[in-house]
Amino acid sequence: MSALSPVLKQATQVLAVRGEGVHLYDESGRAHLDFTAGIGVTSTGHCHPRVVAAAQDQVGKLVHGQYTTVMHQPLLTLTERLGEVLPAGIDSLFYVNSGSEAVEAAMRLAKQATGRPNIVAFQGGFHGRTMAAASMTTSATKFRSGYGPLMPGVALAPFPNAFHYGWDEETATRFALRELDQLLATVTAPADTAAFIVEPVLGEGGYVPANTAFLQGLRERADRHGILLILDEVQTGFGRTGKFWGHDHFGGRPDIVVTAKGLASGFPLSAIAAPEALMAKAWPGSQGGTYGGNAVACAAAIATLDVIQDEKLVENAATRGAQLFSGLREVAARHAAGEGRAGIGDVRGLGLMAGTEFTDAEGEPDGATAAKVQAAAGERGLLLLTCGTQGQVVRMIPPLVVNEGEVAEGLRLWTQSVDAALGG
Ligand code: PMP
Repeated sequence: MSALSPVLKQATQVLAVRGEGVHLYDESGRAHLDFTAGIGVTSTGHCHPRVVAAAQDQVGKLVHGQYTTVMHQPLLTLTERLGEVLPAGIDSLFYVNSGSEAVEAAMRLAKQATGRPNIVAFQGGFHGRTMAAASMTTSATKFRSGYGPLMPGVALAPFPNAFHYGWDEETATRFALRELDQLLATVTAPADTAAFIVEPVLGEGGYVPANTAFLQGLRERADRHGILLILDEVQTGFGRTGKFWGHDHFGGRPDIVVTAKGLASGFPLSAIAAPEALMAKAWPGSQGGTYGGNAVACAAAIATLDVIQDEKLVENAATRGAQLFSGLREVAARHAAGEGRAGIGDVRGLGLMAGTEFTDAEGEPDGATAAKVQAAAGERGLLLLTCGTQGQVVRMIPPLVVNEGEVAEGLRLWTQSVDAALGG
């Protein structure tokens, strides 16, 4: 008998056989409340009937039509539909299969378009596991370790991670932008810098939202120096944060948007988007791959956009997010860390992207307690993920279709799980 690679160690023992809405069902028929959504992917819920129908219909017509050879209608329609929701002026799209590939595509485009070799990424950022994406990723060393040297030409600037620094947001932002200026003055001259790449909310890095002053500060520096601003909206796009794009909270107009996850409800599809004049600067033949823009994935993505619009999922993410944060903050207040006490140090995020950070008696990241809470929740039928450098943040990213009762149920199980792990 062959065994699954141990590299794929799971956070739970659940063997999922069926999914419906915010629930996954195991072999025994037990329901698990899924507040992971396949790492923020199944935004329309598991097996949304409209997404399923669109995919089934497309499977019977055309599964694969490679876009360097032939065009197909789902790709054309999806492109038109995405044009309606992308930031103004971003009117050209290009498809691949995963977040990492899209990040690589954006990196390649930025370098080819500017003729400059370097990229500035931000500390704590996660952009994927392929070579270039991992080179720009610093949310944890496990994503970079053991196969270097990584891609040269990546310079790192601080992200305004106020909790990490123990500062207020304004101080953290001023520091981050000042360090960025210093980097441009001492490490990577603007004339050598193709792009800044940043997440509107640090995802794997611990659910830390950026802010208006920071993103606008990046935009302003990008304009001043002819540097491109790449926004990695892989985890924050498609309504996840309670606005359509994560950066809609802050401004900071992007030159290139990277999207994946919530785009196609679980079908492998990702895209980069940029103004056509910029996209035209990619060297012919340098982008793409065999499976990019798969017809079934595109059909699922069109249905996903329909559901997001018709079921008002962006608005739902904002409303249910407010409910979720209010419950998480109540629990955090009862278990507040500080003055030599271990417990909950911070609750952060936006919309339905919510993180609770655990700290030990010294105020240091406490991954062990976060893991205990995650396990306690799993036993109670609530699926959760962790993130952050030490896995110290337990995150909730339920499908955007989650309703009031399901959020309340998630919070009830969360309260029990935190009480069980911390004593309550
Ligand atoms: N960028 C961000 C912001 C992500 O959150 C992720 C995935 N967690 C990626 C890129 C990489 O996506 P994928 O795993 O599909 O390659």
